[in-house]
Amino acid sequence: MIPYKHEPFMDYSKEENRKKLEEGLATVKDYLGQDYPLIIGGERITTEDKKESYNPADKAETIGYMYQANQEHAQKAMDTALETFESWRKYSFEFRSDVLFKAAAIVRRRKYEFTALLIKEAGKPWKEADADVAEAIDFLEYYGRNHLKIKDGEHVESRPGEYNQFNYIPLGVGLVISPWNFAFAIMAGTTAAALVTGNTVLLKPSSRTPIVAYKFIEVLEEAGMPEGVVNFIPGSSKDIGDYLVEHKDTRFVSFTGSRDVGTKIYEKAGVVQKGQTHLKRVIAEMGGKDTIVVDSGVDLEEAAEAIVYSAFGFSGQKCSACSRVVALEDIHDELLEKVVAKTKDLKVGNPEADVNVGPVIDDASLEKISKYIEIGKKEGQLEIGGKTENETGHFVHPTVFSNLKHDAVIMQEEIFGPVVGFTKAKDFDQAIEYANATDYGLTGAVFTTDRHHIEQAREDFHVGNLYFNRGCTAAIVGYQPFGGFKMSGTDSKAGGPDYLTLHMQGKTTSEML
Ligand code: GLU
Repeated sequence: MIPYKHEPFMDYSKEENRKKLEEGLATVKDYLGQDYPLIIGGERITTEDKKESYNPADKAETIGYMYQANQEHAQKAMDTALETFESWRKYSFEFRSDVLFKAAAIVRRRKYEFTALLIKEAGKPWKEADADVAEAIDFLEYYGRNHLKIKDGEHVESRPGEYNQFNYIPLGVGLVISPWNFAFAIMAGTTAAALVTGNTVLLKPSSRTPIVAYKFIEVLEEAGMPEGVVNFIPGSSKDIGDYLVEHKDTRFVSFTGSRDVGTKIYEKAGVVQKGQTHLKRVIAEMGGKDTIVVDSGVDLEEAAEAIVYSAFGFSGQKCSACSRVVALEDIHDELLEKVVAKTKDLKVGNPEADVNVGPVIDDASLEKISKYIEIGKKEGQLEIGGKTENETGHFVHPTVFSNLKHDAVIMQEEIFGPVVGFTKAKDFDQAIEYANATDYGLTGAVFTTDRHHIEQAREDFHVGNLYFNRGCTAAIVGYQPFGGFKMSGTDSKAGGPDYLTLHMQGKTTSEML
């Protein structure tokens, strides 16, 4: 088998690639506005209730209408998943991995269509949409290969006359609740990890981006996934999410989303229900409040570039996004000036044209970000941005605040928008202390030329993904396993070597010969 290598990014400065993406946009345009059913055991099910998915850059454009599941559908999906588990768990490791490899090949063939769909449904600029699709392919290729590596379990010793084995077996029915910000990559990655390991899945995609999830289920079906392995049940957390988290037969929950929702799921899943015969496992990937530390004596041009991209790529709607900068006093002003100048150059608009910054996802998000911008104006100094537009789409202009205390509200709470705050540190020790002073521990970056400072940060900067002399977003599957500490999640690492076994349990067998 070809060794794993991450999917290359497209170069959209090339005319031929731009043309292909335009074709992708035309393909998507042709299917806008359709209705999409639930999929339970392969059966297409329409319901009483339909919800619109729209383009956040152009509210008048409907992507499609998604039928919504209620508790009866959720129960039907659970029954199907329980039944299918009994056969799926016995499929060979090769068969299950092959479904992922084939799915990767199909997505690769339809790359421009999926990129276009993300531009429209999630409001991603081209580069971001391309990276999202590439990451989905990476998850499929990487987990497919990793799954084959654990086929024979781990080696254990045996005494004479005894044959011991240690193997990984699946858990059961998993509930996957996926986010809108990596509407393809994280949805596909969390689903693929759960299914390839022999579990059956109830997939509840984000209600903002269900169409790309529907299209992915079609890909899995085409790739040979048997009916009932992944059951597609869009719906609200109130109607079906809580019901399934609390369900006695749910074996594990794989959640990516906000800290608020994640902690509630964690609590609910911890309660043992009547008739439940296991303790549920929760894999949660939650928020971040990610800091870039800039030391004295570094290339400030490079640091400013990385800050601007990490803060404003996909409008700051990544849990890895940089929302805090801690700069050493002597370089602070020059760095700030460079960041503001680069921010001024960013083009904001509908990502169908090639812009740097697209919309934020919805009204609630725009409102929340606006609230934090107002708080920021009181806590610090607005350097640039602060403007919002909500006519045709939900736009927030990239915003930089300076003169903030490291414990200011906008330096502590996750904003999930294009807002970054600056604070000063008197020395490197204080910079690391400030960087750590949040509830979160997801990503962080340090720009420094000092070897001792690199080692100090490696030991003391307590984040799951720490980067040196680069930005704090854009982890690559298999290269930089992704996931955070503290209130950022359950310390799991998506795209890492131990991720699959989180969806499995180790079984020891010992035979007397
Ligand atoms: N893995 C992404 C990155 O490294 C972030 C994922 C997220 O925002 O949930 O930028």
